Amino acid sequence: MKKALRQGTYAALNIYFQTDLYGNILGQCTLPANVGSNPSPSVYVSDGCNVLAATMPGGNIAGYNLGKTAVHEAGHWLGLLHTFEGYSCSGNGDFIADTPQESTSTDGCPAKPAKDSCASVAGVDPIHNYMDYSTDACYTNFTPGQGQRMQTMWSMYRSGK
Ligand SMILES: [Zn+2]
Repeated sequence: MKKALRQGTYAALNIYFQTDLYGNILGQCTLPANVGSNPSPSVYVSDGCNVLAATMPGGNIAGYNLGKTAVHEAGHWLGLLHTFEGYSCSGNGDFIADTPQESTSTDGCPAKPAKDSCASVAGVDPIHNYMDYSTDACYTNFTPGQGQRMQTMWSMYRSGK
């Protein structure tokens, strides 16, 4: 499918909105990778995001139909990992300093009482962050650190490629 449909260079975000995705998932995306200085399109033909069309506004997936899955997936395309990456209260996690450590992914929007999977470290779980697994209405933001990582990844891997 991607061989037939992909457009643009490695700097062009291709999102495929599909009626079904294998594994009953809402979306998936490739992370940026080193494709060399003047890559042939065949090198990155599989690059891009697959998003369940029913996650878009008007779609029928309750809790996940405000289009925020596409935002989450675009975050991956620009190099972000999940806020619960590593599923641990220690270690590098998502490599972002200003997202609190989180050891479990979030269901729904457990704001009160605040979800805090790593009570021994500073900050409650970043349930409103686009890179958690919360419902669409719960998502509000990326952090400045995530913004910086996206800029860095863009410059390093995609810009001009
Ligand atoms: Zn994800």
